[in-house]
Amino acid sequence: MEDGTGTWQLATGTWQRPVTIEGMLVETSEGLYCPAGGFHVDPWGAVERAIITHAHGDHARPGSAGYLCAAPTDLLLRRRFGADARIEAVACGQALTLGDVRVSFLPAGHILGSAQVRIEGAHGIWVVGGDYKRAADPTCAEFEPVRCDTFITESTFGLPIYRWDDTAIVVADIMGWWDGNAAAGRTSVLFCYAIGKAQRLLAELARVTDKTVYVHGMMVGLIEAYREARVAMLPVAPVIEAPASGRRRSTKSFAGELVLAPLSARGTPWMRRLGDVSDAFASGLMRVRGVRRQRAFDRGFVLSDHADWPALLQTVADTGASRVVATHGHAEPLARYFSEHGLAGAIMRTAWEGEPSSDDGPP
Ligand SMILES: [Zn+2]
Ligand SMILES: [Zn+2]
Repeated sequence: MEDGTGTWQLATGTWQRPVTIEGMLVETSEGLYCPAGGFHVDPWGAVERAIITHAHGDHARPGSAGYLCAAPTDLLLRRRFGADARIEAVACGQALTLGDVRVSFLPAGHILGSAQVRIEGAHGIWVVGGDYKRAADPTCAEFEPVRCDTFITESTFGLPIYRWDDTAIVVADIMGWWDGNAAAGRTSVLFCYAIGKAQRLLAELARVTDKTVYVHGMMVGLIEAYREARVAMLPVAPVIEAPASGRRRSTKSFAGELVLAPLSARGTPWMRRLGDVSDAFASGLMRVRGVRRQRAFDRGFVLSDHADWPALLQTVADTGASRVVATHGHAEPLARYFSEHGLAGAIMRTAWEGEPSSDDGPP
């Protein structure tokens, strides 16, 4: 669908940042809205009807009257939003009619339940990719490319410096670090995002060990949600908070153990229980040496649940889309790249622009 309004930057080779999206989806103060269907997608404000791509905090906000997502994202949303939230879930591939459009979800390969939203109507076929990756992940269904006219892509790691190693290599590195620390009597503390990354690590490590992994208390319920969805992972035990007063030091030693914790636990009294530690961070951000140095972890493991630069380009090519809207991250360089390569490129700002979406870096 061409438009004559100048909303879309259709010229190739030149780049002027278009600021408005129009057509099937429009930008509102609440986030992306589909007028023909009467719903928002991943709104940051409270709305009547919110379609949710996945359970991360920068995509799924509490307060909306009703939520629609792909199963089993509902398991995670329930834990985040509580029993009173109105949450409906459908299977991937099942099409629904909402107003004047047909809506379906397709796997995004990002975290448990993560899905792309395909919307078909008078403006053609639009797909909101949400967050996605192309690397295999034992905790969720593999990304499925969907043919469409307009693809709205994340751009968390939308710079050519971001390229991921094979997961098996990263997992072997983590095991080597853990073994080395164990031999030296140290505790291995691996910081990671509590939804998705922690469970992926537990599933990947289950291929190479059967040891119990200790986890921060805030991760326990989220790991249970993954088990409910039948994801196979290593056994875990919580690191129990030391009593503030009363009993003396707990006798449990964590020397030689692996502990997963959210970044927010770093430097807190919770850490004191763990004895002599080596700490590490598992994130795509660890690709950048300056970030590693600045954050001063003993180790950085480059493991991401987002598409790297080659995967972003490949995915857009796989969709056959003639228009790409980049959002959530390095939107501008990515949209510019597509504009320079024969597509209509645009960006959409989110409420999160300029601030990290969580303590843990891009989830
Ligand atoms: Zn995101
Ligand atoms: Zn995400």
